[in-house]
This record gives sequence, C-alpha cells and structure tokens, in this order.
Amino acid sequence: MGDYFERIVDVEATGEEAGPLAERMVDWLVSEGLITREMSGEGVYSTTVDEGYEPGRDWARAVQGSAETWWQPGPVAVLVGREYHVGGQGQDEAASATCPRCDAKTVIIDYPEKFEADEEAWRPFREGIAAWTETGEGSVACPVCGASVPVTEWRFGSGFALGALAFDFWGWPPLSDSFLAEFRRELGHRTEEHSGKF
Ligand SMILES: [Zn+2]
Repeated sequence: MGDYFERIVDVEATGEEAGPLAERMVDWLVSEGLITREMSGEGVYSTTVDEGYEPGRDWARAVQGSAETWWQPGPVAVLVGREYHVGGQGQDEAASATCPRCDAKTVIIDYPEKFEADEEAWRPFREGIAAWTETGEGSVACPVCGASVPVTEWRFGSGFALGALAFDFWGWPPLSDSFLAEFRRELGHRTEEHSGKF
C-alpha cells in the first residue's frame, strides 16, 4: 500500500498565493488532527519535495468508510510552486487539450491506437507550460480558432493538471467526498484530484 498517492491540486492559486495558502492549509489540517508538524521522508516520492507531514491521530476522519485499524498511512507532502501534475503512472503529456474558446479538442495521445504523445501536437503545450512554470505566463494558440489561450485555461482532461499548490497523500486509503468538499471550502479554490502509484 505504501507507494500509492492521492493528490489534490489547487488549479487556481497563483505562484504568489501558493506559499501563504500552503501554510494556512497545514495549520488547518493540524488543527483537525489529520496531520502533525513532524516531518518524514518515508514513503514520499513527490516530484519536488522529499518530505511530508506525518499523519495525525484523527487521520481516519478524512477517508472513506471506517479505516482498518492496522492501516498506517504515510506522510502528506505539500508541493508549492508552478508545476504540471500527472496522475496514474505518470505520462509527461496530457492525452488531449480542449480549447475553452471554441471547444475544439486537440488529441495528443491517440488512445487506444497509440500510447505515446504526438510530439508535433504537444510541442506548443510543452513550451507554453515551460514558460508558465518559469514566469507565471504562457499561452498556446488554438490550432482551430487561432485564439491565444493561457495554458492554465486549456482543459487537459483527467490526469493532467497545472497548479502552484498540491498536496500528496502517500499511502492513504481513498479520501472521502465530504473531506474533499471541506478541503475545497478551506482552500477557496477549485481543485483536481489524481491518484496513482509511484
Ligand atoms: Zn479554439
């Protein structure tokens, strides 16, 4: 069970907001007894940090059903900084990108025919996302309507999200819908959830 993660990505926070917001969310999770302030790197395989907060006494309140008493979840890593996040086994590309202006969908990975990205189609997104992670701004021109659309507004579908703040729950049982709703309320932003295996 140790190498599974569930991730909550804040898809609205800016790079500037992410740090203070992360601190506020950690305070809240600690006050709810879901994590402690003890740090550990055990079982943490997040992309940009190698430590997380140890689970708190009441961690089971955040998960579905009644957790098995023998279950010992791992740390919760908090990732601050503009980054793209992938679920599952971690493809580096989105399967598709849908333009929010004209709704045209650009296919990047042509499942189930192919399992690799069309590099031609993905290149402008790769470059736009790289510019965004560096500067906070990056756009891609829609191949259909021609509009220049910020990378944060393209719809990449499930399993690929851009965000400046993310929370990786390592080795936790599935988080409950009520906890996720509460989490979003505290955050005050839209989120996307991923799960996967390291
Ligand atoms: Zn378009």
